[in-house]
Amino acid sequence: MIFLKFFEHVALGIIGFAAILLLGFSRTEAAVFALASIAIDIDHLAWYFWKFKSMDFLKAKRQFENHELRDFSVFKLFHTIEFWLFTLVLSILGTAWFFLFLGISFHLLLDFTQVQLYGRKKCAKAKRSWSIIGYLIKSKNKWKSTE
Ligand SMILES: [Zn+2]
Repeated sequence: MIFLKFFEHVALGIIGFAAILLLGFSRTEAAVFALASIAIDIDHLAWYFWKFKSMDFLKAKRQFENHELRDFSVFKLFHTIEFWLFTLVLSILGTAWFFLFLGISFHLLLDFTQVQLYGRKKCAKAKRSWSIIGYLIKSKNKWKSTE
């Protein structure tokens, strides 16, 4: 949501759903792809709810989309390389799991492409962590510097 807006992800998820059906895959596989590519953004809300102790979905959505949270270090578990690799490993369990990996990859590719094309300056201010390990190292250094 910081990058592509939520409803753009929904629209692209629906297009992906249709494309996968046209390629001859099952409705379940297409649905897993679409839901994964949309639901991954739930981590933005989880972070917002944790940080502000507020369950106001609309306020959270508005603040992310208007880049009002750019001065915060935002940690989004499902947008990290470690989680992405975890879903890749899960894909050995079966085709539906592979479509989960594809849906998440699709979403991350859209986010990443948009950062490269349009929002680099703006998005850099959001201090987004693309890695759990990177986030932990950064947090540890921050704690050290405040001691
Ligand atoms: Zn996203």
